[in-house]
Amino acid sequence: MTNDAVVIGAGVSGLTTAICLVEAGWAVQVWAAEPPRATTSAVAGALWGPSFLEPMAKTMAWTNRSLVDFTELAEDPATGVRMAPALSVSAMPAAGDTPPQARSIPDLRPCPPEDLPDGFASGFRATMPLIDMSRYLDHLVARLAKAGVEIELRTVRSLADAAPAAPVVVNCTGLGARDLVGDTEVRPVFGQHVMLANPGLDELFMELTAAAEWTSYFPHRDRVVCGGITVPDRWDRTPDPDVTDRILPCPRGRATPARRRGARRRHRAAAGPLGGAGGGPTARQRVVCAQLRARRHRRQPVVGLRTGSGGASRPGGGAPVIDRRARRFAREAGAGC
Ligand SMILES: Cc1cc2nc3c(=O)[nH]c(=O)nc-3n(C[C@H](O)[C@H](O)[C@H](O)COP(=O)(O)OP(=O)(O)OC[C@H]3O[C@@H](n4cnc5c(N)ncnc54)[C@H](O)[C@@H]3O)c2cc1C
Repeated sequence: MTNDAVVIGAGVSGLTTAICLVEAGWAVQVWAAEPPRATTSAVAGALWGPSFLEPMAKTMAWTNRSLVDFTELAEDPATGVRMAPALSVSAMPAAGDTPPQARSIPDLRPCPPEDLPDGFASGFRATMPLIDMSRYLDHLVARLAKAGVEIELRTVRSLADAAPAAPVVVNCTGLGARDLVGDTEVRPVFGQHVMLANPGLDELFMELTAAAEWTSYFPHRDRVVCGGITVPDRWDRTPDPDVTDRILPCPRGRATPARRRGARRRHRAAAGPLGGAGGGPTARQRVVCAQLRARRHRRQPVVGLRTGSGGASRPGGGAPVIDRRARRFAREAGAGC
């Protein structure tokens, strides 16, 4: 074996993990069925935001660490990350205290009622990391290439296929984990965005709701990513023209500023992973890992990363978070995965 680790997957989790390992001195290979620009990661909005997943202490720590990382990345526009003014609104009156998960949001303050768009009862303004995923993924690929790591396009049928290549295998396959390790806990949630040319918007807009459809738009340098919809358990990634029509002008008939200014449109859709456990290998992945070790009669750590539905902005979105996790996994490799 000439490598220390094989990372399977080249979405934001796989690329981030590989960079962390490489920058920590590991010899790493990245294997992926699809290149970064064809992954779910490429379709994300992508907004950093607080996580309400359990275990709360851990997900809060990861999210806060990601905030530090993205704030640093935003100093270089070439990364595709910027600290954007944000307006977040709700049709419901403001609830009591700010939940602890939201207290780390920079510049968080209530939005005066007179600034709220029609139909909304409450809102807040803040400054939040906004990630242009196409450019961010390119940035991650370039960092890897600089370290001498190219992405090898290949589909892995079983973790045992990767086991001979390196002592550590990191499973960053997103929804692919369902087939790769027979992990039925992994479920898709379909989302669709409509892309508009950016007519000059700077502030992002997000409706907070438990409904399956909402209004949001995320302005990047040259385009605005408009949403949104969520359809649990839909695997098909084909954009739905009816959904496009509902996003534009937008649900409940409110026209986005971008649309009002007659911006040109394209649309994309993708299924993204929906996970309840936030991070770490699922129970099924731990079993597979143990079976693999037993079969090979030696300790064969297999690390699984599960991102949940906000995976672009948490592990694996925050490189140092993954760095710490990967190093810890490596240290603990002999003790199980
Ligand atoms: C419409 C939409 C909007 C979103 N908005 C946000 C947002 O604003 N903020 C946020 O934080 N998150 C957002 N998300 C969620 C986010 O996109 C995902 O959580 C994240 O991209 C998951 O990244 P990943 O690297 O784990 O998986 P993926 O991006 O799916 O990458 C998986 C990789 O594994 C590879 N792979 C899979 N199976 C195999 C195999 N058997 N062999 C080899 N390779 C394999 C794939 O080819 C791919 O390279 C959004 C998702 C969607 C769909």
